[in-house]
Amino acid sequence: EEMFLALCRPGFESDLAAELTDRCAELGASGYPRTSDGSGYVLWNNLQGNPEALLQTGLVFGRSFYPLTASFEDLPEQDRIGALWPELQLQGPFSELFLEHADTNAGRELAGFLRGFRKALEPKLRKAGLLRGNADRRLHLFFDDSRHGHVGLSPSGIPLPEGGLTRLRLSPEAPSRSALKLEEALLRFVGRGKPPGLHTAVDLGAAPGGWSWQLARLGLKVTGVDHGKLAPALLDEYPVRHVSGDAFTWRPERPVDLVVCDVVDKPARTAALMQKWLEQGWARVALFNLKLPMSRRYRESQALLERLASGLERQRPGTLIQAAHLYHDREEITVWVDTRAP
Ligand code: SAM
Repeated sequence: EEMFLALCRPGFESDLAAELTDRCAELGASGYPRTSDGSGYVLWNNLQGNPEALLQTGLVFGRSFYPLTASFEDLPEQDRIGALWPELQLQGPFSELFLEHADTNAGRELAGFLRGFRKALEPKLRKAGLLRGNADRRLHLFFDDSRHGHVGLSPSGIPLPEGGLTRLRLSPEAPSRSALKLEEALLRFVGRGKPPGLHTAVDLGAAPGGWSWQLARLGLKVTGVDHGKLAPALLDEYPVRHVSGDAFTWRPERPVDLVVCDVVDKPARTAALMQKWLEQGWARVALFNLKLPMSRRYRESQALLERLASGLERQRPGTLIQAAHLYHDREEITVWVDTRAP
């Protein structure tokens, strides 16, 4: 029996549990999720088979997913490190030390404790040769409170942010906070820097222009479609032009590489619009938000993604669809659809 831990936004535990159950079944693994509402994470008790492929692909509602090697209980307050040390020696060396907690109020209250703990533990690990850049695994110490938690490992080659949180700083130049969401989405789906092969973009529902600004900063030429106005500085200083129009009926004169859409509407309507853009060849890649329903958020969003996949299958075989409930997403998920055959 093996245990895995997956972090999520508090309140989405049952969605993550349902997703884990489905994904593991697809991989031929069986087990059961253990969670409590509002905890900000789900434990997967794996009984048979191997769900480790999920470390590579990631999960929509999971901010991280990694196997546990041990749990700790009642760590002595005077010598927590001493109590953990045998396990650390057994599992090391590590490339990085992640000290994690749930994204809950109780979890966040551990931040101070964890800063002190890191100051004590990191030099010890280094001195013992257990923390070195070239190691192939990173160490996760997940704390429920200052004495209880889990020891986990993840492959260094798979990029993961500590605590499952991609903290980004909002530039004072950004026209809106939504800029962070697009930044996080690109980091998640394509990595740092200019997305390869993308030079032109249409931004549907662009005002006031956070997404357009983010794309223009990366060197894309952007057409922003919205009845509302875009920030004047954005239009002056970046290769962004504004078109006053309706996101659902406006069509580009010539195809672009990327269409993005942040219009708040029924998710089925947004998904159908994006499918149309890709089927018609108006864009080759789409990045958009799908608002989540009130209940059965995993099931409903999964059904929409499946419908999109089967819709595109015939005309755009080989299409890659990825989705994530990003740190900057609340009641929505962000979807990346790439029709460029690999
Ligand atoms: N992504 C933008 C940013 O980063 O600043 C924020 C977009 S905001 C959440 C949604 C925008 O969609 C609003 O500016 C609204 O005017 C626009 N919108 C809503 N329905 C629309 C439609 N049918 N056609 C065009 N724009 C629409």
